[in-house]
Amino acid sequence: YKERPTAVNQFLLEARRWGSQELLVQGDRRLTYADHEAAVARVANRLSAYGITLGDRVMLLGFNSIEWYVSFWAVHSLGAVAVLGNPWWSDHEVEQLVAKVQPKLALTDREVHQVSRVSLQELRTLVDSGDPAELRLADVSEDADAVVMFSSGTTGLPKGILVSQRSVVGNMHNVLGMTNRLPNELPDDYRGTTSLQSVPMFHLAGVQVSCATLLQGGKLVMLDGKFDPAEVLRLIEEEKVRSWGAIPTMVSRVLEHPDIRTRDISSLASVPLGGAAVPDELRQRIAEVFPSVKKRIGSLYGLTETGGPLAAGSGGEITGHPSRVGKPLPVTEVRIANPDETGEGEIMGRTPNAPEEVIGEGPVEDQDGWIATGDLGRIDEEGYLYVTGRAKEIIIRAGENIASANIENALLRHQDVADAGVVALPDPDLGEKVGAAVVIKPGAPVPTLDELAALCREYLARYEMPDSWWIRRDSLPMTDIGKLNKKQLIADWTGRGGETFHEA
Ligand code: ATP
Repeated sequence: YKERPTAVNQFLLEARRWGSQELLVQGDRRLTYADHEAAVARVANRLSAYGITLGDRVMLLGFNSIEWYVSFWAVHSLGAVAVLGNPWWSDHEVEQLVAKVQPKLALTDREVHQVSRVSLQELRTLVDSGDPAELRLADVSEDADAVVMFSSGTTGLPKGILVSQRSVVGNMHNVLGMTNRLPNELPDDYRGTTSLQSVPMFHLAGVQVSCATLLQGGKLVMLDGKFDPAEVLRLIEEEKVRSWGAIPTMVSRVLEHPDIRTRDISSLASVPLGGAAVPDELRQRIAEVFPSVKKRIGSLYGLTETGGPLAAGSGGEITGHPSRVGKPLPVTEVRIANPDETGEGEIMGRTPNAPEEVIGEGPVEDQDGWIATGDLGRIDEEGYLYVTGRAKEIIIRAGENIASANIENALLRHQDVADAGVVALPDPDLGEKVGAAVVIKPGAPVPTLDELAALCREYLARYEMPDSWWIRRDSLPMTDIGKLNKKQLIADWTGRGGETFHEA
């Protein structure tokens, strides 16, 4: 059964050939491939003591850490399903998502009431113990569920996207196939590359970086603590990082940091970017500042709903071409639905590696296998895809997707709020920031910003907190059919500078 395309067979067992090489680095902790496998076995034993077995869901709820990574593989080795929760969620969100996804166990340092819990701190001790242990593997079918990842829904709670073993493996090979499509641009020692893991591993891009590294005998260098540009630069220099998969906000913060002039960053050879629109000026600046990267500024376009990238490009294919994200990958197809006279319409994607379903909602694909992305774009004569806008009502703030409806609903809980409209305002650092316009009921006292922020903190994740407020008495702009006219609100607001206004 070793031949079956399951995550463990294709990644973890394959990685055995790199035994004594380093795999994980975080702070002063370092694990080789062999150390990692033994740690996976120890954590798996602990999880089976909690009764975890084939098909059970186990929620991981934590920021990037060695114990998170080891636990991810421990869950897989038992044939259980890794549910990748977002540690920024509010308690309210955790509670609702646990009820929806029904994990049997949660691995987290947070208080979670509805489900048994093992703390990541405890697993860290187990990982660091170094005791020998032998990995035993459950017999898993390639059709079995492997992972649940979350994507922001447009109307409320994040959606749980259920991904099969076959889909995880197919998507990884798709990503690697893409890397290998650029052989003449890759350095000879690209295999065994050192990657910097600064994107969260609970997101699709993070899972991909970590699996790809394992498969290539590479080293995964994790930031210890929250994102810090100085630390990124230190790690690039000291660990000789070759590849840094990042979201645009991270890269622009690093480019602005003064240490960029003093650190030796010449090892960096590849910067694949995705997760949010990448301004062309940013690509140009990367090419100037990191000359070694010039040809390998990568671009990935995909969604949690597609389980992996739909399109990719690199170097001169994308730099100098605003909004261009690349071409479909060998096994993916892209088309534009209902194009207008300029050719712009909704981007539709089709992939043999599509996830199975949205938990509680049904398949991600339509009858013909197409997935509606909710993004607007066009395809040029040469077959390049451009992502030019968005049809779905989400805000992408520093790579995190946010449903405006979720924030509006939280604000409407306040007794003095008559109406709320939440929109994406342009921001040079975050890409987009969250603007919350709040209409106060006639005659009602005006709530303070602190009061509104406290309400948001109770119901929303940290990254969903509004950045700018517009507290007003007059109603919000409406469309002909009486829906909130978001375009108008954004235009009015950016026309006035996009900052906080208190008019009520
Ligand atoms: P991750 O979960 O790792 O952040 P992701 O951002 O690709 O991966 P989602 O969080 O599901 O996946 O977000 C998908 C949305 O992000 C897309 O629908 C699109 O709006 C936006 N997006 C992703 N990549 C790009 C890109 N290269 N250019 C423009 N927009 C992008």
